[in-house]
Amino acid sequence: MTLLEATDLRRHYKVRAGRGPFGAKATLRAVDGVSLKIEAGRTLGLVGESGCGKSTTGKLVLGLIAATAGTVRYAGNDMPPTGSAAWRALRPRMQMVYQDPLGALDRRLPVGVQIMEPLAIHGQASPAERRERAAEVMTAVGLQRHQFDRYPHELSGGQRQRVVLARALMTEPDLLVCDEPISALDVSIQAQVVNLLLDLQDRLGIAYLFISHDLRVVRQVSHEVAVMYLGRIVEQGEAESLFAQPTHPYTRALVSAIPVLGPRRERLLLQGDPPNPVDVPSGCAFHTRCPFAVATCRAEAPVLQPTADGRQVACHRADEPALQVAA
Ligand code: SF4
Repeated sequence: MTLLEATDLRRHYKVRAGRGPFGAKATLRAVDGVSLKIEAGRTLGLVGESGCGKSTTGKLVLGLIAATAGTVRYAGNDMPPTGSAAWRALRPRMQMVYQDPLGALDRRLPVGVQIMEPLAIHGQASPAERRERAAEVMTAVGLQRHQFDRYPHELSGGQRQRVVLARALMTEPDLLVCDEPISALDVSIQAQVVNLLLDLQDRLGIAYLFISHDLRVVRQVSHEVAVMYLGRIVEQGEAESLFAQPTHPYTRALVSAIPVLGPRRERLLLQGDPPNPVDVPSGCAFHTRCPFAVATCRAEAPVLQPTADGRQVACHRADEPALQVAA
């Protein structure tokens, strides 16, 4: 069952491109026509370099920021307008887990109080029931009950992210948008939090939008993957097939950079830095860095097209055998 479906989502900002208060204005297309689906109980990984629009997409699908254009449907119904009573009633079912657990928590409050907060905000349950539920979710995420009265600075980074997860689980959500949920943690702790997320999905059937620049982790947790470049999705599809045989040159460059055990595989190296998002290149936005770019790429923007193996790829040359061999 499709839990969340976003269609042609856009978020544009007017910014000053020139110097000083009277500098020329330009449009920053942070998200520019993103469509995606998240199935109940499954994980969609959203990957790309920092600044490509992943986090903005996560906030748009939850309605935390308003879209410039596009629609979001949740459980078969249109998402109510941001801030409306109907939207606030839906919010307990969709929670967000941020990158920095210390930044997401209030240092002045015991973590138990913060775990109970979502039920208090949404006016759910009595104080005694909230405390009981907090104890349950703390156990579910591997926290000890005596840690209820601890302050965030008294816990390790991994424990703090467990607190953030416990708080998100209090309202029994169907969907968690996890925005770089492990990148602020020590490497030794990252695996524990990933395993916890997988375990919670198994037990509770929660769907995740898992936003990360770390393809190694995305590969581990995702059923489907969408790859973003400069505000657009350039390839999406089933995770196993995408990682086994990436098609878009950008995806192939990202996948070829994943560290592997054993013999090194050939890297597809990108040319240059990502372009300024206020001045996106014409045609295919990736053409300034793509080793396979031809004249058509500079003139026409490719749109997502289905491939023989069931994915969607936005590349003029995706079907060319010559390009496959060159990779
Ligand atoms: Fe490269 Fe052209 Fe494909 Fe863009 S459309 S990814 S520039 S080959």
